[in-house]
Amino acid sequence: MEREALIVAKFGGTSVGSREAILQLRSIVEKSPKLRVIVVSATSGTTNELCALAENPHELSILERVIDRHLKLANELKLVVIDQHGHRSKLYTLFDEMRAYCFAAQVEKINFLLFRDHLLSFGEALSVALLSEYLQAAVVDARELIITDDNFGEATPLEVKSEVLREALLYSQLVITAGFIGGTRAGTTTTLGRGGSDYSAALIARALNADCLQIWTDVSGVYTCDPRSVPNAKSIPRMNQTVAAELAFWGAKVLHPATLLPIFNSNTKVWVGNTFAPEEAGTWIDSGTAVGDSAVQAITFRPSQTIVTLIRVKKHNTYGFLARVFALLTKHKISVDHVTTSEISTSFTVYEPAMLTASPILEELSELAEVKLENNFALISLVGQNIIDRPHALEETWKLLNGHSVRSLYMGASKNNISFLIAESIAHTIVKKLHAHFLELY
Ligand code: ADP
Ligand code: ASP
Ligand code: MG
Repeated sequence: MEREALIVAKFGGTSVGSREAILQLRSIVEKSPKLRVIVVSATSGTTNELCALAENPHELSILERVIDRHLKLANELKLVVIDQHGHRSKLYTLFDEMRAYCFAAQVEKINFLLFRDHLLSFGEALSVALLSEYLQAAVVDARELIITDDNFGEATPLEVKSEVLREALLYSQLVITAGFIGGTRAGTTTTLGRGGSDYSAALIARALNADCLQIWTDVSGVYTCDPRSVPNAKSIPRMNQTVAAELAFWGAKVLHPATLLPIFNSNTKVWVGNTFAPEEAGTWIDSGTAVGDSAVQAITFRPSQTIVTLIRVKKHNTYGFLARVFALLTKHKISVDHVTTSEISTSFTVYEPAMLTASPILEELSELAEVKLENNFALISLVGQNIIDRPHALEETWKLLNGHSVRSLYMGASKNNISFLIAESIAHTIVKKLHAHFLELY
């Protein structure tokens, strides 16, 4: 299919979170007439605050903090929130709706997950209200655009109604919508999981068959490691889609883990760049081969991992054991990461450890086997195209670990990563050592 000469650009929390950022955003948009769809996150900190408010809707000081932040931004951008005739802007209406919504939750019995998703959606809605007015852009309601199932908090997109966007694009040079948010077929608000705006933007770019998806954030592209924990990390000029997808999956926060999935097998190019330094280097992600075949390209780190071990004390060699374990995990919608298995025991980590305590899964697993939990592990991954073919990659890693005990080493399922679990207390030191060895030599 021919690609459209169209750019979909996503701006993250810090990229919409201050006057300075919004001025930069406007300049990026003005310089690129092909940039016609903007997907925005909530301003930085807002989603965290709304999560806290969902837990305790009586804590109205949190709500007022969120409102004040947006009022201040509106004033700094010289937007009129309420005019001399008492006409209220969309922003002001949203403030009222949020207050009313929290009040209702204080007095009525609520479905918590449904309530939380709707409350969180105000974060993105506030950004859309501010920016649509500032940029004079048309608004498309994300709930009518990205149709999802009703798995609140981590909803799965079922369909993108691109015709809604295409129609808006007929009448407006610039269209803005909220990232992170979707809606069920019945019209209930859902969210796609934390950091999900990247994913929304990718879904939209794919549905429009866009030429390019731009992810504008607060660092200059995808780095060899999180630049906040390893200051020597460098921006990677070009990456292959599959490798970048693995990097996102194994913990590089700069891209939501699912971001690249909609883009696979399409010609949509992805650019990750810095809103605050748009001319600076960034990262191109495409379907070509990576530069430096079979080299380590990046190191990722995921903290707070819990290892679940199931010991089959009752019987051994029972067929169907793993099937029963996975059936329970499926029932509770828990995604498993790493699995190792031997004759009597099976260990795994889960993508979101909090899910283990938020459901009766552990109790149910204990009916099948003895369950052991070990906390405070970190998952470290070395990522690069065909990395497992790099001569000595494993030996070199082993040497750098310097006798520290490693739990569950994984390689082979994908050719593009080697990962292992290690005690969280030493993980940062190990990441730095690995980075210095594999990525600071040139
Ligand atoms: P946004 O709000 O723009 O979506 P995020 O905070 O979600 O921004 O993602 C950007 C952050 O991701 C950076 O500030 C950086 O600290 C972190 N990060 C983690 N790993 C990487 C990596 N490999 N490359 C770049 N940034 C990374
Ligand atoms: N605002 C949401 C979050 O903080 C989505 C995003 O920023 O991508 O998780
Ligand atoms: Mg993000």
